[in-house]
Amino acid sequence: MSVPAMVGKGEITQRVVQSILARQIRPGERLGEHELAQLFGVSRTLVREALMQLQARGFVAVRPRVGWYVVEPSFAEARETYAARRVIEPGMLRDAGRPLQSAVISRLRQHVAEERNAIAHRDAATRSVALADFHVCLAECLGNRFLTSVMVDLSARTTLVSALYQSQTEAQDSNDDHAAIVEALATGDHVRAEALMRAHIDTLAARLDESLAHSARAQDRLRSALAPDNATKAARHPGKGRKSAATST
Ligand SMILES: [Zn+2]
Repeated sequence: MSVPAMVGKGEITQRVVQSILARQIRPGERLGEHELAQLFGVSRTLVREALMQLQARGFVAVRPRVGWYVVEPSFAEARETYAARRVIEPGMLRDAGRPLQSAVISRLRQHVAEERNAIAHRDAATRSVALADFHVCLAECLGNRFLTSVMVDLSARTTLVSALYQSQTEAQDSNDDHAAIVEALATGDHVRAEALMRAHIDTLAARLDESLAHSARAQDRLRSALAPDNATKAARHPGKGRKSAATST
């Protein structure tokens, strides 16, 4: 997180969510009140209020003697995240009603082109952000502010879930799915767009793998790193067992 000049509570929460989306902070990561207060140049009280808002949104939790940390969703919660998206996102397209304006279609096509560019030229984190942002962009394009804020939260939660339970990097597949959804919307075929969205989310949900979580969970990583045998192994095979930062949404 970079340091802004003057910030309020809303900006702190927004920047933490953006950092989750950008995979700059991971599940299990500590969020020290003192460090955040220094970073943002605000009081610890303000930081605590921001963290409590994030707690209510399900992104952080607090434990006595541990402090604040980014949640590590359980596998059941991971599945529920996709189940929620499966209800909301196809429904959002079904209820879009009238054909979308050409300016809106242009914006969506532009987004899909930017994703393709990010896949070809950028790092894994940028790629993941661009792909996740498509779903937020779509909600924005449909003009519903409440659905947009719901999609921001669902996308951030998906990012946490995929950091723990997804390893495949099928970014181009996701980009192709997004392009097909936009073209269905461009022809006014909302039924097809809805079906494509459902299939897209089902494909992503099918890539959830509970067995990956062990190496991805912060506590397990620590335990694994400190165990004498594993520490030697890790030194011999740096990066082994750690998942790639690129997953597609
Ligand atoms: Zn997607």
